[in-house]
Amino acid sequence: MSQRTLILLKPDAVQKSLIGEIVGRFEKKWLKVVGLKLMNMSGALVDEHYDFLMDKPFFPSIKSYMTSSPIVALAVEGHESVKVVRSMCGATNPVDALPGTIRGDLAKNIDNNIIHSSDSEETAGKELARFFKSEELFDYGRPLLG
Ligand code: GDP
Repeated sequence: MSQRTLILLKPDAVQKSLIGEIVGRFEKKWLKVVGLKLMNMSGALVDEHYDFLMDKPFFPSIKSYMTSSPIVALAVEGHESVKVVRSMCGATNPVDALPGTIRGDLAKNIDNNIIHSSDSEETAGKELARFFKSEELFDYGRPLLG
């Protein structure tokens, strides 16, 4: 089933010049880029996005991390994309993330784990609407792929 999912390249991905490397991995997996933008996350947007972590002791560090510099919001479309993207990202803690995954290869520790992706189709719908206006998401075919 074709579906859309949301990916965020967190501030450390942008700082370490890994935008191309990470977006390239999704493109090579034939996921179609349907939305892409550089943006700052406001404190209010972090509160909304991570509200389920609000009472954790590490929430203030998440908030200062996510607002420290721009992020890239990326929307991709493809067969079972929520599951495919989650498995490409790897475990939340990069120490546990397998080699070959984005966190396993490129991230150092849980404070700086480089990437976010939606964890279900329902969450993806909400998160895509949180980061993209409808006119920022594109429907297009890829006839050159054959
Ligand atoms: P994800 O879906 O794999 O990103 O994981 P979660 O939804 O469980 O957590 C959301 C984000 O909160 C993670 O990506 C981390 O940035 C952060 N986080 C989760 N657990 C911890 C923790 O124990 N310590 C710190 N510093 N950050 C955490």
